[in-house]
Amino acid sequence: MPLIRSWVQSANAPDHPFPLNNLPCGVFSSSADEPRCGVAIGDFVLDVAALEEAGLLALPDGPLLDVPFWNDVMEAGPDVWSALRSRLTALLAEGAADRAAVEPCLVPLADVTLHMPFLVSEYTDFYAGRHHAFNVGTMFRGAENALPPNWLHIPIGYNGRASSVVVSGTEVRRPWGQLKGPNDDAPRFAPSARFDIELEMGAVVGTPSDGPVTVAEADAMIFGYVLLNDWSARDIQAWEYQPLGPFQAKATATTISPWIVMRAALEPFRTPTPPREVPLLPHLQEPGPMLYDIALEVSLTPEGGTETVISRTNYAEMYYSAAQQLAQHSTCGCPMNTGDLLGSGTISGPTKESRGSLLELSWGGKEPFAIAGGTRSFVEDNDTLTLRGRCKGDGYTIGFGDCTGRVIPALADPYKRT
Ligand code: CA
Repeated sequence: MPLIRSWVQSANAPDHPFPLNNLPCGVFSSSADEPRCGVAIGDFVLDVAALEEAGLLALPDGPLLDVPFWNDVMEAGPDVWSALRSRLTALLAEGAADRAAVEPCLVPLADVTLHMPFLVSEYTDFYAGRHHAFNVGTMFRGAENALPPNWLHIPIGYNGRASSVVVSGTEVRRPWGQLKGPNDDAPRFAPSARFDIELEMGAVVGTPSDGPVTVAEADAMIFGYVLLNDWSARDIQAWEYQPLGPFQAKATATTISPWIVMRAALEPFRTPTPPREVPLLPHLQEPGPMLYDIALEVSLTPEGGTETVISRTNYAEMYYSAAQQLAQHSTCGCPMNTGDLLGSGTISGPTKESRGSLLELSWGGKEPFAIAGGTRSFVEDNDTLTLRGRCKGDGYTIGFGDCTGRVIPALADPYKRT
């Protein structure tokens, strides 16, 4: 599909992240206004809540946009999602009859604050990137035993915390935790010295389920995708994770990009998962291409310093799609809810430059890597980490907005009360 031209001229630039083909969903506020639903178009946010209120955006079973989150639209299902996109496309396309009525509902992006785009019901994080699992497994267990025996048969995951999911721009405080090195006699309680990021995509569940769903049904339940940085304290993780998996190491914060890119906008970029190394059981087999060709990058900017891109990879490197993960999540009958967030797992590529965590980039801290003006093994205080993603279409780009966070120093004493 080529670029759909809009009367919002900035949206027609081939490199702009928010053309009419995209229409990502966010929540914004300007000056003293309360947060409200908006859709990005070019250099603007379209105040869709105002459009609905004015009767220009009548959705089936509406109003759905009179709340500062997208969950009501998500729960309304695929017919409403496509009705929303069709109507917005008609209102914003070149030559639209309603332009004069819509134009006052555009707010410059530069003037708004972006908020969490949806209420996160629950957050599940997976470990479904082949290269990441192999790299981490090699560091901890040696290359021979890098992949656990179940890894090629099921997408491995754990139940994370919805309460710690934050929107891009939120500062992340370095956590304290119980740490124990391989040669230490006893654990100690201290700030994490191996604080890290994980480059992931997050799938946002739209329609709920009750009972097992097929991979095809799971794909249809997904409303859209966000960029996701799963902040990880490696030293806390190394001590606590056996035998039940990550706990406090992953509970400080998970940052998501401010815009949910709807699945419909990603359709032209569908791509199959890589070839299977062993056949999957039937309930996890892919009925069609369910990954997406999304170019991803991570950059690091020290305080007062220059930004360095430290990794470039692609979502298509994942071994399992979000649809397969969602299907696996429901196999025992686990109900899935509107607003459930599924982290893909760290997306590393096959090369050193395409690793999606500092743990891998610095090979466990043994090989510090270069950034402008220095080196890094793990995240240092006041470093800003930014994830970016984009799909290149026929004369247009689909972007997610930056997913960024600055790490601020640990508290001097987390238990000191003022
Ligand atoms: Ca993760």
